[in-house]
Amino acid sequence: MSGILFIISAPSGSGKSTIVNQLRSLVSRLEFSVSWTTRGPRGSEQESREYHFTTRDHFEEMIRNGEFLEYADVFGNYYGTALSTLKEAFAQDKDVLLDIDVQGASQVRAKMPDAVSIFLMPPTPEILATRLRNRSRAEGSVREEDIDRRLAKARQEIENYRDYGYILVNDILDRAVEEMAAIVAAERIRNGNDPGAGGADRERVLRIAHNCRQANSEARIRPVLQAFGVPVPAAKG
Ligand code: 5GP
Repeated sequence: MSGILFIISAPSGSGKSTIVNQLRSLVSRLEFSVSWTTRGPRGSEQESREYHFTTRDHFEEMIRNGEFLEYADVFGNYYGTALSTLKEAFAQDKDVLLDIDVQGASQVRAKMPDAVSIFLMPPTPEILATRLRNRSRAEGSVREEDIDRRLAKARQEIENYRDYGYILVNDILDRAVEEMAAIVAAERIRNGNDPGAGGADRERVLRIAHNCRQANSEARIRPVLQAFGVPVPAAKG
């Protein structure tokens, strides 16, 4: 397999789907992997567009047949990335973006250490709770215990941020989209497979991506970690 594998993880409700959808219209040759799941469709979701929806029995058969690159149990449902999705995209000379949780990301990193991983943080627990409530309301009902459970899970997921190469904070949507696109472009330049990137634009995307590297984003993520009660690394210098 030859293309670049990008992974994005974020706590549920961080605005990841919005960013990923906007990225679709900005970046060419990037395949958005459609995962398999045993959860039911939500809202306007369609079979094979957001997910391949299936039964637990079928999912477990796929596990037994070794059809997954990774899979995980998230909130009581299975989610997994089929190996065939990756193979087809790479055969067409495309890069692939996986939108998977932190458990799946660690399985992929173990198998494919060159994968480029990006962690998207919500700016504050309050903003995350508001987004989660709005989403639940749109789906019918808000259960505060669900919101609390998701906030606790978000905190746990954020604790894993150090495993990711790049960190984004979704405080300004347009900025997060621009950063995501810059990371894709910068990694393509690094891999020597972006002949289109030259001149001022090249410098710009490399600078933006550089600033999003985990090692360079400490000042930006510190208040987010503090707000979620995640231990903050000692300040440098
Ligand atoms: P949702 O049900 O809100 O669409 O997704 C719940 C969580 O499952 C999100 O964190 C999402 O990234 C994760 N997820 C979606 N597809 C996959 C997958 O194929 N593998 C893993 N490990 N997680 C996934």
